[in-house]
Amino acid sequence: MLRELHQNINNPKYNCIAHIHTHPYIGGTCRFFSNQDLRTIRSLQDGFQPSDGRKVYFLGGLLTVGKGNNPDDDEISFVFHDDNHGWYKVTNITVMQNNTEIPFARTNNRTKMREI
Ligand SMILES: [Zn+2]
Repeated sequence: MLRELHQNINNPKYNCIAHIHTHPYIGGTCRFFSNQDLRTIRSLQDGFQPSDGRKVYFLGGLLTVGKGNNPDDDEISFVFHDDNHGWYKVTNITVMQNNTEIPFARTNNRTKMREI
């Protein structure tokens, strides 16, 4: 996996790479990025840059339960650290395929995109 990451960082085709994960569906603070999540993104941003001097930006992505703790308000969000302005959190992310939004479905307590 590390080799693949290095290859993609050094591939001029990519200037943005996302580290995406989910948290256990226990409600409460599991909705939010942890301090460890943020440290990971900063470490990637600071320590893994292309050897040719280009800048690659790392985003953290989280798929998790929403405020209401039910499948209809599950969320996808991204965080990004800008050296001059600090952290940004981008919420209300949806997934589109052929101009149709793909909603979430929960199966055996795990969320996945519904088939369309
Ligand atoms: Zn996390």
